[in-house]
Amino acid sequence: MSTPYNMAFACLDCCKSFKRESNVTPSEFPLELKCPNCGSVAHSFGRHFKAPKATDKKQWDKIRFLFEHGFRFQKIRIGKNQTHHDTVPYPETMEQAREFVMKYKDYAIKSTNGI
Ligand SMILES: [Zn+2]
Repeated sequence: MSTPYNMAFACLDCCKSFKRESNVTPSEFPLELKCPNCGSVAHSFGRHFKAPKATDKKQWDKIRFLFEHGFRFQKIRIGKNQTHHDTVPYPETMEQAREFVMKYKDYAIKSTNGI
């Protein structure tokens, strides 16, 4: 039996994030839910996502940019040892994000529906 944990969802249209409790494995959890705020699509950003303030447009632009390039705040581990220490931190600014998506494009999630 696995213990329930919270999965973060974020709506890129209205810049709201919310959590859903889950007790299934992440791979069985839906990648999209309906945004309870605006009815648009809210995307799963996993367990490690920390949402910026709704008013922080720059941060949301960065998240949108990362998302469009296949980065949903999944853990990116580099190096031979797949240990905790090799996890790549997510970029804090848009400038860093541009470099990040180039550098780690091999780690991007390939969308199945052609986004
Ligand atoms: Zn929304």
